[in-house]
Amino acid sequence: MYLLYLDDAGSAANSQEEYFVLAGIAVFETQTNWLSQELDRIAENIDPANPRGVEFHASEIFSRRSPPWKNMEREDAQGVIKAVLKVLARSHNNVRAFACAVHKGSYPGSDPVELAFEDLCSRFNIYLGRLRAAGDIQQGLLILDKSTYETTLQKLARDFQTRGTQWGAVIRNIVDTPFFVDSHASRLIQIADHVAYSVFRRYNARDTQYFDIFAAKFDEADGIIHGLAHKQTVEPMCMCPACLSRRISQSARISNPDNNL
Ligand SMILES: [Zn+2]
Repeated sequence: MYLLYLDDAGSAANSQEEYFVLAGIAVFETQTNWLSQELDRIAENIDPANPRGVEFHASEIFSRRSPPWKNMEREDAQGVIKAVLKVLARSHNNVRAFACAVHKGSYPGSDPVELAFEDLCSRFNIYLGRLRAAGDIQQGLLILDKSTYETTLQKLARDFQTRGTQWGAVIRNIVDTPFFVDSHASRLIQIADHVAYSVFRRYNARDTQYFDIFAAKFDEADGIIHGLAHKQTVEPMCMCPACLSRRISQSARISNPDNNL
């Protein structure tokens, strides 16, 4: 089974922010221990007396307002976020990143949480479908942070079965009941938090230093970065990896109609 751990960054309601991001990692079940242990190892350096008490929450580490991050130098705190992302970067090939960055102004009247959730379910389903086509038949399970849009996302999750029916084949490979877990208890949700934070920084603040660490982990096939979606209508020539890879693939198809990419 593949587990898709998801967390959010940015606020759907905050008009000061241009973006809302839902993102995370798809992990084959046997990889969860390795990822958890690697984060435990980083935690041992931060609080040797109580490593399990260290929760990696990127925006809290970045702001350095509460312990154990409070007295840390800025570079050291940013180094902790990067260390977590480097664990993802060097993980097994069956650990993949997924993200959807919604430019809220491009979709007036739509709920960005709903847009991102549907988009990610579809991307995860396509990933599982590709594995299935290659002979690896696996179900997918969604695992979300309990505090993630407690109301909206939990309602979407409750309606998941109905939505699955509405979407037809969209969630064919995904188990119909998502799980909500406490981020404090799950190192995997903490990695999802760092992915969401990095993608948010990439699009909302144009700060690529975190995103670039694990950019190669996004699900990719035939030159298209399927694992990353940049939903926007304002930048037709956007140079982000998601938009650029789709444009290049499209122009290859146009210039060579026989090239069935
Ligand atoms: Zn883009």
